[in-house]
Amino acid sequence: MDASDSGPLDGGCTCRYVRYRLSTKPLFVHCCHCRWCQRETGTAFALNALIEADRVRLLHGEVEVVDTPSASGKGQKISRCPKCRIAVWSNYGGSGDLVRFVRIGTLDEPDRLPPDIHIYTASKQPWVVLPAGTPAVEEYYQASKYWPQESLDRRAALSAGRSKNQ
Ligand SMILES: [Zn+2]
Ligand SMILES: [Zn+2]
Repeated sequence: MDASDSGPLDGGCTCRYVRYRLSTKPLFVHCCHCRWCQRETGTAFALNALIEADRVRLLHGEVEVVDTPSASGKGQKISRCPKCRIAVWSNYGGSGDLVRFVRIGTLDEPDRLPPDIHIYTASKQPWVVLPAGTPAVEEYYQASKYWPQESLDRRAALSAGRSKNQ
């Protein structure tokens, strides 16, 4: 399955040792304005594409997984290039290993995945002006209220698979 009409969604690190491909469009795209994301990126927000782990394929290289504290206390595993240390995706304690948070800025064409929602806007840096028409919430949100039905179906398939494997 192709990611979209305009070709695969490929990305990678800065030194090009890690190269990956998203086999489909993500479930949803977060623009997170929390302080933790501000610190981790060194900038005003983080852009993450949420996608099933088995839809992220390594084309080249390997990742090094670094255990990192997270706001929830459950921790996150940040996958980084072992050479240039750029982070390409995270897995959070809450959603487990099945869903990856792929860092949009590591895509070759990051413009193709604009945010579907702005979250934790309570700590948004004041000069960031949010676009009209994109949902924005002060903290987190319920997927059932914002995700398209197709993504909710994909998520349901994921948790069905998880209970089968336990
Ligand atoms: Zn690298
Ligand atoms: Zn955040």
